[in-house]
Amino acid sequence: MADTSSVQIAVRMRPFNEREKKLKTAKCVEMVGQMCTVTDPESGKERQFSFNYCYDSFQPGSEHFASQEMVFRDLGISYLENAWKGYNCSIFAYGQTGAGKSYSMTGAPGQPGIIPRGLAEMFQRIDANDDPDLSFRVEVSFLEIYMEKVRDLFSATPTAGSLKVRESPKLGIYVEGLKKERVACYEDVEQLMELGNTMRTVAQTNMNAVSSRSHSVLTVLLTQTRINKESMTASDMTSKINLIDLAGSERQGKTGAEGQRLKEGSAINQSLTALGNVIEALADNCVASASGKKKAKKRLVPYRDSKLTRILQESLGGNAKTIMVAAISPAADNFKETLSTLRYANRASKIQNVAVINES
Ligand code: ADP
Ligand code: MG
Repeated sequence: MADTSSVQIAVRMRPFNEREKKLKTAKCVEMVGQMCTVTDPESGKERQFSFNYCYDSFQPGSEHFASQEMVFRDLGISYLENAWKGYNCSIFAYGQTGAGKSYSMTGAPGQPGIIPRGLAEMFQRIDANDDPDLSFRVEVSFLEIYMEKVRDLFSATPTAGSLKVRESPKLGIYVEGLKKERVACYEDVEQLMELGNTMRTVAQTNMNAVSSRSHSVLTVLLTQTRINKESMTASDMTSKINLIDLAGSERQGKTGAEGQRLKEGSAINQSLTALGNVIEALADNCVASASGKKKAKKRLVPYRDSKLTRILQESLGGNAKTIMVAAISPAADNFKETLSTLRYANRASKIQNVAVINES
């Protein structure tokens, strides 16, 4: 059964950080319902966008405050439901460094994000299963793309080599040699994630004390096996869940990068630029086919231009249900990056995916 749906967009605005509070920075973003308005602090010009979800996490304690729990209730539960039906799903977080990507995906101490909440809920559901003919298997892998090299975060020596991205009719797109760990409970995943996160490449930039300069992809494979007692056969239904925390989307100038940092910047941007190009081509193709014109020319989608776009190929315009979390800063001095993130998200919202249930 094929199911067509658009990439769902959730924009989330973080609170002011200490620096912005101290500097009494002006706020340039307002959210009302599904509308998000940004105001150019120089010209006063307003731009308005509409998204599937607008999460205002600016004022902790306020009536409109979007908590981790609320974000999970919408986005996390929706991907779990889809995974249970056998669809591939993916959530990716996009935005400038310090805008709240990792906070939304992983969370902060005492404030777990979409990933830990989702996995905890997944095991709760598995534990609650009382159908003796149905069994579950959960496997996870965790990789990082850093300067166009793919590294296994579950490997003790992730720096040793760069893994190859391959494609086969049976496996689809996969990373050759990537470790897949079978997990039996939430605590297993938690331990593995901790190990993986310590393996991640982090470096200092002026934008944020510790900012991640790499893209990380956590993949969860949920396999449901059903035994048919009458025919003595078993059938599998597998869902692949990709949870992606992208590197900061800011342009290089602002981070004051030099030397190694600058080189990193361009490699990171190679993947992000490629992602932008893929999103643009897909959005154009979807708009063209929606126009109903017979001769609408399809653009070639440049998935092969980067490791990131290869790995995300199924999630973008392919066999998956996809959510993009666009993390933004409320601060006027981040206006340009915020506007660029909102435009990016707006383009991504035009993409249609066709998901099928993976049964065998
Ligand atoms: P990124 O991963 O995009 O670089 P982080 O997720 O690390 O950014 O967020 C930067 C800082 O802002 C962190 O200290 C984080 O805890 C805080 N933060 C981000 N989003 C929120 C939010 N919605 N509510 C509260 N704090 C947030
Ligand atoms: Mg981060």
